[in-house]
Amino acid sequence: MEKFLTVQEAAAYRGVTIPTIRNWTRAGRLAQHQGKRGTMISRAELEKITNADALAVLAAYGSQENLAVKVRDLLFPVDRVEVQKPGQMVVFKSVRSANGEVAARQLRDPMNGALVADAVTVFGRPTLEAACIPDGVGCRWHFADMLAITHGGPMPVDLPAWRTLLGQPCVGCVLRLNPRGPKRQTVARKPPGRRSPGLSAGGGPGTPVYWRSQADNALKLADQARARGDHAESRRLRDRAAEHARKAGN
Ligand SMILES: [Zn+2]
Repeated sequence: MEKFLTVQEAAAYRGVTIPTIRNWTRAGRLAQHQGKRGTMISRAELEKITNADALAVLAAYGSQENLAVKVRDLLFPVDRVEVQKPGQMVVFKSVRSANGEVAARQLRDPMNGALVADAVTVFGRPTLEAACIPDGVGCRWHFADMLAITHGGPMPVDLPAWRTLLGQPCVGCVLRLNPRGPKRQTVARKPPGRRSPGLSAGGGPGTPVYWRSQADNALKLADQARARGDHAESRRLRDRAAEHARKAGN
C-alpha cells in the first residue's frame, strides 16, 4: 500500500523546512494529494526525488565517503549539538563545548550550512543527528534507528560512509543490520542430519527441523556471547535453547 505523509511529516522525513516542501509542490516537483488529514505527499515520490538529489550531491563531492569525512571533521570539535525545532528544520547548535564559540561559528557558516543540507540529503536526518553524539556516550546506530522510528526518516545503512559518521556499531546493531548474515552461516556450517546438543533432553526422530535449528542457533549465539565475555546474554540464550529443545520434545 502506498504510504502518504502530511507536509509536516514529509519535511521531517526529508530534513527540510515545511516551506521547502510547499515550494516543491508549487513548482510541480512533488504531487499533492488530498487526504483526510489535508494535503498529503507520497513517500515513494519523496524518496525518488531525494535519491535524485543525493546523486547530484555525490557528483559534487566525489563519493559518500568524502562527504562523510567532511561532516565528521566539521562535527569533531563540538562536544554536543542539538537540533532545534525537531520535526521541522535541521539547524545544528552548539550546546556545550570547550571551544563552543568556534564550533558554533563553524556551524553557522553558510558553507557548512550547505554541507549539512547535502549530508542530510545523502545520509538522512536520523544519521546526521546521531553523528553529533559525542564519543563514548553510546551506540550512535541505536540512536539513529530510534530517531528514524519516532520522527521518520531513512534508517542508517551499514556502509563505510555511515561508519565514518556513526562509528562502529555495537554487537546488537551488527546482528540487526545484517539479520540474514549470521543465521545463513550457521545453517551452512551445520552438517545435514546432525543432532543438536540442545536436543538431548527430548528430541527424537521426527522432531521438526524448524525447532532443531532454533535450539542450535541459540546455542551457537550463546557460545559467541560467552566468547566475548557477555555471560548474562550467554545464559539467556542457553535458556532459550533449552526452551526450544523442550518445545521440540513435546
Ligand atoms: Zn547499537
